[in-house]
Amino acid sequence: MECIFCRIAAGEIPADVVARSSGAVAFRDLAPQAPIHVLVIPIRHVGSAAELPVTERQAVLGEITALAVQVAADLGVAAAGYRLVVNTGGDAGQSVAHLHAHLLAGRPMKWPPG
Ligand code: 5GP
Ligand code: ZN
Repeated sequence: MECIFCRIAAGEIPADVVARSSGAVAFRDLAPQAPIHVLVIPIRHVGSAAELPVTERQAVLGEITALAVQVAADLGVAAAGYRLVVNTGGDAGQSVAHLHAHLLAGRPMKWPPG
């Protein structure tokens, strides 16, 4: 298996997993950009949001955003606020070709994000 996030989902390489659902895994980012920086991925490989077949968009995006919202609540940042980001493709700076949502929290965020 080539994909690093598929290997994390399969438990083949270590990650600081904070939550799981039937179709998604949440784990801490290796290079955190905020006090809380968690990645939420679908267990099944898909390269990006843009590569999701139209019939799977609602289920897969629902699965990862729902788990992100749950993790935000579990980590105690729901009231203070947080940001969910899905970098998609080159212009957005997507660097890992396995769909993932970033949950960023624990400090005030700037807007626009850059
Ligand atoms: P992207 O730039 O594709 O939106 O985000 C990819 C994220 O994955 C980056 O924030 C990067 O730090 C993180 N990342 C890359 N490789 C690993 C890894 O092996 N383990 C973990 N936990 N995070 C990783
Ligand atoms: Zn993958």
